[in-house]
Amino acid sequence: LIRFDNVTKRFGSNTVLDRLDFSVASGKHVTLIGPSGSGKTTILRLLMTLLKPDEGTITVAGEQLFPAPEKQVREVRKKIGMVFQQFNLFPNMTVLRNITEAPVTVLGLSKDEAEARARELLDMVGLADKCDARPTQLSGGQQQRVAIARALAMRPQVLLLDEVTSALDPELVAGVLDVLRDIARSTDITMLCVTHEMNFARDISDQVLMFDSGRVIESGSPEKIFNDPENDRTREFLSAVL
Ligand code: ATP
Repeated sequence: LIRFDNVTKRFGSNTVLDRLDFSVASGKHVTLIGPSGSGKTTILRLLMTLLKPDEGTITVAGEQLFPAPEKQVREVRKKIGMVFQQFNLFPNMTVLRNITEAPVTVLGLSKDEAEARARELLDMVGLADKCDARPTQLSGGQQQRVAIARALAMRPQVLLLDEVTSALDPELVAGVLDVLRDIARSTDITMLCVTHEMNFARDISDQVLMFDSGRVIESGSPEKIFNDPENDRTREFLSAVL
């Protein structure tokens, strides 16, 4: 479903991704791990078309992202949902409206359809009683769960998760990860996830990619990567974070 071929991304003289190749099959959950600055977030931003690669091609669902006509890029973008470290909810809208806004304006759903779907999703993330609250009345963990519901409301084929628990107080992390585990288990959505939560990565991943200096230096099942890594850098990284 997702494919990077020979992708290079530079910021000035800093080569952040270096002839990167990897692919993610439909329905799989792939986790990107690696030291800070190794290029993980850049991969997600390329997929969101927030950045362009300097070289190489990126395809999503068979459609190339660069170079591509604007309309094609918009269509591909609709297939991808993203949740960030910062929740980025609209502060002046209720929780329900935060979730219905894009399905109504972008997908053309009726208000009733969008609300019914939003209520289902809020139920799924354990916030059925918060429809009418404002984001500022919620904890960080609750806001992040709303952000997850908002991403899913667009019925994306792919969900990108960028360190979604890094900004949360420690006691709120488990609730958000439980929601994501549930989504991984109960939906066929493809997940590409950058996280420092190694237990979570172990639980949900079909495949773990270890990054260093803009390249995948090791990849495999979570059992393989966490229990029996082959690469010295992977071992060093894991012993520092586990
Ligand atoms: P972290 O875990 O800290 O988020 P990461 O692996 O996600 O790290 P990236 O955020 O992809 O790393 O950043 C990789 C490198 O690219 C870093 O050296 C960063 O400083 C640089 N970088 C990222 N975005 C930009 C930008 N817009 N302009 C210039 N440099 C950038």
